Parts: sequence; C-alpha cells; structure tokens
Amino acid sequence: MTCAEFFPGIPESEVRKHSPAGADRRLGRDGHLVMSTQIFILRRGSVVALVDLGAGNGKARPAEPYWNNLNRPYLETLASLGVAPDAVTHVFFTHLHVDHVGLATTKKNGDWIPTFPRAVHVVGKTEFEFWNDPAPGGGGRPPSFVDSVLPLKEAGLVQWVEPGDSIAGVRLHDAAGHSPGALLLELEGENVWLTGDLFHHPAQIARPDWPSGAFDWDQEKNTRCRTRWLARFAETGAVLFATHLGNALRVETTAEGGFFPKRGR
Ligand SMILES: [Zn+2]
Repeated sequence: MTCAEFFPGIPESEVRKHSPAGADRRLGRDGHLVMSTQIFILRRGSVVALVDLGAGNGKARPAEPYWNNLNRPYLETLASLGVAPDAVTHVFFTHLHVDHVGLATTKKNGDWIPTFPRAVHVVGKTEFEFWNDPAPGGGGRPPSFVDSVLPLKEAGLVQWVEPGDSIAGVRLHDAAGHSPGALLLELEGENVWLTGDLFHHPAQIARPDWPSGAFDWDQEKNTRCRTRWLARFAETGAVLFATHLGNALRVETTAEGGFFPKRGR
C-alpha cells in the first residue's frame, strides 16, 4: 500500500519527517509503506500463548487479494520455534479483523476447524458482538468472522473478556477506536504491551492525529485513544510490540512535548 493510499491528504514528505530514520522508517523510496502482519508468541511458565493470528491459509478473500488463498509456512515456523498446535494454551485477539484471526482455523474435510484445539481463545465480548450482528445494510458478517471466529465459538473454545480482565498474566485494556472492541494486552509486572492496531505506522506516534486511513472504525475515537495511551507509554517507559510495526519500540517524549518512537527494548 502506498503512503498516499494509507494517509490520504498527508504529503509523503511529512510522513518521512515524522518517522525514524533508515529501515525503521517503514516507508520505501517508492512511496510504499512497509507493513508486516505479525503473530507473537508468549511463553511464561506453563503458558504458551499466541497473540493475533495473521491472515491464515486457504481463505477466500477476493476483496483483499494480498490475503487471498495464502499458503504460508505458519505452522512450520511455529514448529521451528518449538510450538506445536496442541501445545498452545491460549490465543489472544487484539481485535477480530481479517488479518488478525486467519490462522485460528484450518480446513479439514470441507469444514473450518480450530487450528489450536486445546487453546483457550480469548475474545473481547464487545468486539464479537459487533461483528456477529452487523448493522442492517452493512453487508452482513465478514467472511473472516464466519470462517475463522465462529468455529471457535461452536467448538466451545472461547473465553469472553472485557477490558480490565486478566488471563494467564495478561491484562486486557480498552482501545476501542480502530475497531469497536479493540483491546491492548499488558504483560503484567513487565510493562510490555501488545498494542494490536493502535498504530499501523511509526509516524502515528509523532502524529497520533493521523488516522489509519480507511481502516479505523471511528477515526476520532482512535485518535483520542492513541493520544491517551502514548502519554502513559512515554511516562512509564513501556515496551511495545505492534502487530504491523516489526520489532519492539518505546515512546520518547520530545522537547516540544510531543512523542517519537525509539526502537529497541
Ligand atoms: Zn491489522
């Protein structure tokens, strides 16, 4: 996706100015944004948790050709890191967009069945209810919700949560804006956060008022949400992992009282 498509009306030079230098800028010379879709593994004690599940394999996504019928070595990669599907104890979703739920199910004999059959799948109730009952005329439930989320509920693997709940040492916090029930995940006692899609690009740390293009459910609400969390992250030296942003980063306060991303833990 190009910078102009993602940040309509914002000059590319401004995005460059408000981004870190070099590869961490995540903006190519040709104006394309560099965006990854990551899955995180948390291992603490007996907990083996995955956070967000990418776009998945074999899923028909004609509206999103870059995610259509993928065949990526997700499970092979997890295996190489010592994570077998049966060993996953928890799956956390920051929200239920198409690029965060895909690997949750795998096609077997024509049906979508849970890929991690022993895992508790932690799902925000508000988020689920929104996508399960879309507004009239809204085009119905998204295909990704039907093929990747509903089968988890049918299999009895879902644990419903609300902001403030804590599961397996992970505290969930309200981040509604990008989607109606988006959550942030805090690793309790470590000040490490998984921020989902609170930011899609590092420039949004210096410019939290820049929405995530057409992807935010409520742009103004998400701007308020980003700004509020940035202040807390900067104040406490939090380490952030964002689904689309690559390696860890921290939020620094600038001399002018704004914010800027700094890579590293
Ligand atoms: Zn996303």
